[in-house]
Amino acid sequence: MKIIFDPEIPEDLREDIKAAVEEEGLEEKCPECGAKEIYVALLGKVLDVKCYDCGYSYAEIEMEEE
Ligand SMILES: [Zn+2]
Repeated sequence: MKIIFDPEIPEDLREDIKAAVEEEGLEEKCPECGAKEIYVALLGKVLDVKCYDCGYSYAEIEMEEE
């Protein structure tokens, strides 16, 4: 599974976000279209995880406070 980050997500957060997404144990590929690329955007403190190809919503993950 490849993660594509929203361009607005700062570089220094990307490792933490990647770890959070991996911990979530999402499906290996999209159940809708079979794509293996996911797109992650950060909305406030919530990660919005979607299929990069079709927009299928995998999960919304709340980031923990540091
Ligand atoms: Zn898809």
